[in-house]
Amino acid sequence: MHEMDRYDVVVIGAGFAGLTAARELREAGKNVLILEARDRIGGSTWYQPDGFDGFGLEMGGTWIVPQQTHVWAEVRRYGVAIKDSEMPSRMTWSDRGEVLESLLPVAPHEYEQLEHAVRSLIEAASRFDPLRPLSEQDVADLDVPIGRWAEDVGLTGNAKELMISWFCGCANADAETGSALDVIRWCSSMDSSLWGMVQASVLGFTFVGGTASLARAILADGGAELRLSSPVRGIDADEKGVTVAYDGGVVRGDRVLMTTPVGVWQDIEFTPALPADKLAMSRENHAGQGQKVWALARDVPADISGFGWGTSFDYVGAMETTERGVVLVCFAPEHDRVDAGDLVDVQRAVREFAPRAEVLDARSHDWVHDEFSKGTWATFRAGQFAKYELCVGRPEGRVHFGGSHTARRWRTFIDGAIESGKRAAAEILAAAKES
Ligand SMILES: Cc1cc2nc3c(=O)[nH]c(=O)nc-3n(C[C@H](O)[C@H](O)[C@H](O)COP(=O)(O)OP(=O)(O)OC[C@H]3O[C@@H](n4cnc5c(N)ncnc54)[C@H](O)[C@@H]3O)c2cc1C
Repeated sequence: MHEMDRYDVVVIGAGFAGLTAARELREAGKNVLILEARDRIGGSTWYQPDGFDGFGLEMGGTWIVPQQTHVWAEVRRYGVAIKDSEMPSRMTWSDRGEVLESLLPVAPHEYEQLEHAVRSLIEAASRFDPLRPLSEQDVADLDVPIGRWAEDVGLTGNAKELMISWFCGCANADAETGSALDVIRWCSSMDSSLWGMVQASVLGFTFVGGTASLARAILADGGAELRLSSPVRGIDADEKGVTVAYDGGVVRGDRVLMTTPVGVWQDIEFTPALPADKLAMSRENHAGQGQKVWALARDVPADISGFGWGTSFDYVGAMETTERGVVLVCFAPEHDRVDAGDLVDVQRAVREFAPRAEVLDARSHDWVHDEFSKGTWATFRAGQFAKYELCVGRPEGRVHFGGSHTARRWRTFIDGAIESGKRAAAEILAAAKES
């Protein structure tokens, strides 16, 4: 009879969480196998070097900032090249498709409203410590839908519209679903700075050779065995170990580390079954159900950085100028706001920020309908902090749980994925010692 392959740890998912955990476990002398469903590593980051006219496109995670100490340390460790964003000379504001010719997004008589909006954000961000679980701090009043928070703090006019749209942009979620707390956390993680929050979203550093350059470096250093195109279907744990069934075979591990997005858990057959809270989280899924669309356009300002409300995209920003035009990165808080496969529709949405734009090309990945993601980044729905913040990363016997959704300071970011990979590896090593 063929002997089943045996490993100390089977890591499920080759995103930044899985790759980091595998490296840490290998460094501790463990025998590690990574099973990855797709035919590539990187998970929710996906660099396509053949992008537009030689400018490579990040279909998923892109920007990092020095305050993200885990990813920053990895970049330094491997000497991976990154570059800072070029600052736009001005911001563009689109009020329901009408571009405002003003320095600030509101008329002078509404400046006070804008001040109030910024103050409300900073005050809220200063109320908690992003390094500790938010469900253990006194901030349940902030774990409400984005639109409700704007109402609660008494925002009005364009300041309110902009704030809601900005929060939805950060959440990649709509105003009725996304948790305001999960967005305010960004500000808190940047020492309660609004400017810091903008940097962490779309004006931070990018990878010169794509996020893949860092993912490859971590994988190569760790030297774990990797099987691609190997979606896991079943996880069967007993007192002595865990049997993992995937398309292609069955392996046995002393312990398993799950790093897949939460929405995917429900599609895997767990024995014993997942506890009720984890299963409920998987079924509810998170609120990050929006779009990221790349467009190549003519007749667009070469440094456009546009925020809009009542528009299809909530952000349209220039990343590069090629021979044919300006490369734009665009976000929408719902997955069907723009038909990314239809240049006319993308052009319609871009024209809300640059009225004369002619869109020549567009590219996007539908993360929401991708069976191995079921969403973009894992912003909690309003109310999910209390119910699931601690449960998503809690081990279930020999099955451990990582992924950026289990991180603290930078959950939902690349940094959070790396933080979680380190945490999970340490947890597994400690548990292995005890047993
Ligand atoms: C459009 C978009 C834009 C983003 N922008 C930024 C940004 O600018 N900055 C930033 O820091 N972060 C950003 N993020 C978030 C960031 O990319 C993620 O938080 C991070 O990459 C998640 O890493 P992870 O390892 O936790 O999960 P993932 O990268 O999702 O890895 C999980 C892996 O599990 C695999 N998998 C799933 N199911 C199975 C299965 N059944 N069997 C085996 N394998 C399976 C998946 O294929 C995947 O490779 C963005 C994400 C998206 C989608």
